Amino acid sequence: MSQKTAKTSVEPAIWRCAVPSPLRQAFDYLPIEGGHGGAKPGARVTVPFGKRSVTAVILSIASRSSVEPTKLKAATALLDEQPLYTEAQRALLSWAADYYQHPLGEVLPLGLSPRERRGQPERALTETGIRLTARGHGLPDGAPHRARKQATLVSRLRPGPLPLAELKAEGFSPAVIRVLRDKALIENFELATEAAWQTRSPPLPANAEQQAAIDQIVAAAGVFSVHLLYGVTGSGKTEVYLQSVADCLNRGRQALVLLPEIALTPQTLARFEERFEAPVIALHSAMGDAERDRAWAAARRGHAAVILGTRSSVFVPLLEPGLIIVDEEHDAAYVQQDGFRYSARDVAIKRAQLEQCPVVLGSATPSLESWHNAELERFQRHSLTHRAGAGTLPARRQIDISGLELSAGLSPELLAKIEAALNQRHQVLVFLNRRGFANALLCHDCGWSSDCADCDARMTLHKTPPGLHCHHCGRRSALPSQCPRCQSRRLVGTGIGTQQTETFLAERFADYPVLRVDSDTMTGRHSMPDLIEQLASGDPVLMIGTQMLSKGHHFPHVTLVAVVDADALLFSPDFRGEERLLQLLTQVGGRAGRDGTPSEVLIQTRHPDHPLMQHLDKPYHTALPALLNQRSQAGLPPHGALGIIRCDSQDRQEGLGFLSLIRNGVTTPRGARIIGPLSAAMARRKNRYRSQLVVSAKSRSMLAKVVTDLIAAAEAARHSHRLSWSVDIDPYESL
Ligand code: ADP
Ligand code: ZN
Ligand code: ZN
Repeated sequence: MSQKTAKTSVEPAIWRCAVPSPLRQAFDYLPIEGGHGGAKPGARVTVPFGKRSVTAVILSIASRSSVEPTKLKAATALLDEQPLYTEAQRALLSWAADYYQHPLGEVLPLGLSPRERRGQPERALTETGIRLTARGHGLPDGAPHRARKQATLVSRLRPGPLPLAELKAEGFSPAVIRVLRDKALIENFELATEAAWQTRSPPLPANAEQQAAIDQIVAAAGVFSVHLLYGVTGSGKTEVYLQSVADCLNRGRQALVLLPEIALTPQTLARFEERFEAPVIALHSAMGDAERDRAWAAARRGHAAVILGTRSSVFVPLLEPGLIIVDEEHDAAYVQQDGFRYSARDVAIKRAQLEQCPVVLGSATPSLESWHNAELERFQRHSLTHRAGAGTLPARRQIDISGLELSAGLSPELLAKIEAALNQRHQVLVFLNRRGFANALLCHDCGWSSDCADCDARMTLHKTPPGLHCHHCGRRSALPSQCPRCQSRRLVGTGIGTQQTETFLAERFADYPVLRVDSDTMTGRHSMPDLIEQLASGDPVLMIGTQMLSKGHHFPHVTLVAVVDADALLFSPDFRGEERLLQLLTQVGGRAGRDGTPSEVLIQTRHPDHPLMQHLDKPYHTALPALLNQRSQAGLPPHGALGIIRCDSQDRQEGLGFLSLIRNGVTTPRGARIIGPLSAAMARRKNRYRSQLVVSAKSRSMLAKVVTDLIAAAEAARHSHRLSWSVDIDPYESL
């Protein structure tokens, strides 16, 4: 339509909205019936969209629309007088949609809690309390008699009211509470949650390196700055976080602490809870919606002082943030790998800039990106070079296993070391990054292998419980007793998994407990805390586990760590393969020697001459210049920018054809390259074909331009509904 009609018509205010839809555009609506007074950008509205009614967000109030007024639909409800989004949060979400080239309407909901996304009001910041009624107070001691649970509850409430949630946590059942309420002995009331912000337990006396880091972070308060805290494992990075957070709380500001995992690292959460008298809330996946709604409101209203959370918590609303911390900043868990793809670490840096506060990135094994930024002095680097407290760093050494006879993947030398450590009553950790019993099942006679019907991958053999599992699509099938093709009974497993090593070790070291730690055994919420408790006794234990064990845990009594199969990552086709191996070898080693007993990390490899293996006895960062140099020569991050258009289709040819079409619709400027279409490393997964275009560019702005053009071409291209595509900026994996 033309601008003329809009000009001549009466001009009502237009609500320009982001609607949750994959369309990369804003939609205009007329205000609700009865006026628009006071509607603010950031407010949620209910609008008709196609045949549905959806919760949208007002982006701006426009004076005219390019849509003909008669064709504009009106919003049906204004949900917020005051927007739930903070200014900075809205700026952050818009930036993220822009930077990662994802539809804003799908990004904005990340700033809201579950019920808020559904269009409901923010959860009230009171909680249900229980108190005795006058009648309840009048009861004699020990009453009601013959109802022990009820009597216990009554006496529990005598000193004063308590939150319902607390009573439930103490084990009082809803039935007991209901009975007393029916008898009018107790009643519900609204308990306001009050926040007192104090430090509870005193800080540890910081060592000189810690103090220098704390001083500089504290001195940076109130302005944007990025701090790379490079501290060897066990160097006391957490203490630096805690003391920086304490300063932040003293200034009446909130701290946001991002962790790669919460369920697996209960120790970190406990250390924050023990240190501060202030409300510390943890946002994690095991949390119910109601709890999450309350946490969200508490963060937004400033009742929560410290917010610990995983990746998506980087978008939580904060009233007055004063500090952001990203622990284990190199961890892949910060990268959202499907849907809206983003790096929570990079979003955290942007957030700190918008909120004008410092952000601390901590790691014993910083990413090449962060290291590079520190070298360029965009980030301030603080180094903690030795272990705090009693711990000493373990010695790292390789065992050359080429040509050796192995038992369940373990060399005679390694077995002798394990035996010696156990006999000295030490704890041992054996690291093998492969779940299951064997990688695949093969027929000795005809060569049949346990291929997954839906993926270009083999199904893994599991023994406890027995079956074949595809680790890529989740498909499971029964363990065949004979070859499905030739009926031979000579079926053999190839490639060692944790179950096999566990079985072998349990037989070999029958006098000691052998524990397997992988995602098959660590299923319950209490698995990890239980394990940590068992290890705390200091009794000898032999643990065999996957990378789950490399994450941030403290196993103070472990003196020997063994890496069974380092070669699996050594020749990874992914551009981060070597960086990840180096990080892993440093992190697993970091679990050892935390109580001061001399400790050792033994790494089995068939490639002792590989440059990375040559760095084992040197600090992590000494290997980085060579890796950065390789990246620079290949034009890979952090030198140059990378983006991928991924395509997922039922038909292989349609996917490749679609990508060719959009590639041909775009002219590539000098300094940028489009590579592909290529099939993904595992071309078929869950019976879908995956292909991609890789864009590499000298600068971010050039990358953004090429990707924007590709998106425009993709949106214009026709394709079947069985094809979908997505954009991945700064991909973690290039495959
Ligand atoms: P990191 O996070 O760097 O791996 P931690 O913060 O977990 O290391 O610290 C390792 C151990 O050292 C912890 O048990 C911690 O209590 C202890 N520690 C940290 N700082 C000090 C200090 N200044 N004095 C004594 N012990 C400390
Ligand atoms: Zn066969
Ligand atoms: Zn599969």
